[in-house]
Amino acid sequence: MKNLSNNNIIHIKDGDIEYLQFRKLLEYKDKVKHCYTTKSNDYEVDDGVNYKRLYNSLKLDYNKLVKIKEQIHSNYVQVINSEEEKPDKVDGLITNKKEISFSLRFADCTPIYLYDPVKDVIGDIHSGWKGTVGKIAQVAVRKMMQEYNSNPEDIICCIGPAIGKCHFEVDEDVKNIFENTFSYMNMNNRIIEKGEIKEGKQKYFIDTNLINRTMLEEIGLLKENIIESNICTVCNKEVLHSYRVDGENAGRNTAIMSLI
Ligand SMILES: [Zn+2]
Repeated sequence: MKNLSNNNIIHIKDGDIEYLQFRKLLEYKDKVKHCYTTKSNDYEVDDGVNYKRLYNSLKLDYNKLVKIKEQIHSNYVQVINSEEEKPDKVDGLITNKKEISFSLRFADCTPIYLYDPVKDVIGDIHSGWKGTVGKIAQVAVRKMMQEYNSNPEDIICCIGPAIGKCHFEVDEDVKNIFENTFSYMNMNNRIIEKGEIKEGKQKYFIDTNLINRTMLEEIGLLKENIIESNICTVCNKEVLHSYRVDGENAGRNTAIMSLI
């Protein structure tokens, strides 16, 4: 299968267990573990067997896995203090507790990995387009600042594979929501690109990566601490699950993060 390694990402193949990792976060591999899984397995639909194999490969404890019961494309972020907690109807989890691992599900939406190496805090965030409009990345960073006294200048943020501007085509209504929410950034010409007219409807392309990067810089993260995967889930549909491509039948890629 196609290898998605690039300057920021390394594509690991451990037998039939496959995942992507950020080179930047691997610099801290003695303190934090993470991955983004591929189409080789859909961990949401198996009975735990493949999940356990993935956890073995990552050398994480499967019994300390915390999932969100239902991700709802919100901007709600929850602080987790124990693996016994069962978060529901939120789209981001943060903790400073070691060994609890977070596992969130994605099919085109943006996974955002946050790591503060000074205060030892992590965040695993599901930023769908609605979550991006709700600025969930900023909500999460603000929560790290309030709960754990994180300094945004210390926080490393990795923006994972998601539907890129090349494929995130929307109608006028969604375009207007982005335009109204982010026009203050003064970069509408880069965030929004006019596409074709299809069946009488003007289409637009939206750059959610750039929006997320900009809102993170706005809240105080350093440019050099924001790393993008530069991988579009639709462009790489043979390797990654994509809702745009597979619709209701789409599987899910899993973004895992844990302090160790
Ligand atoms: Zn694409």
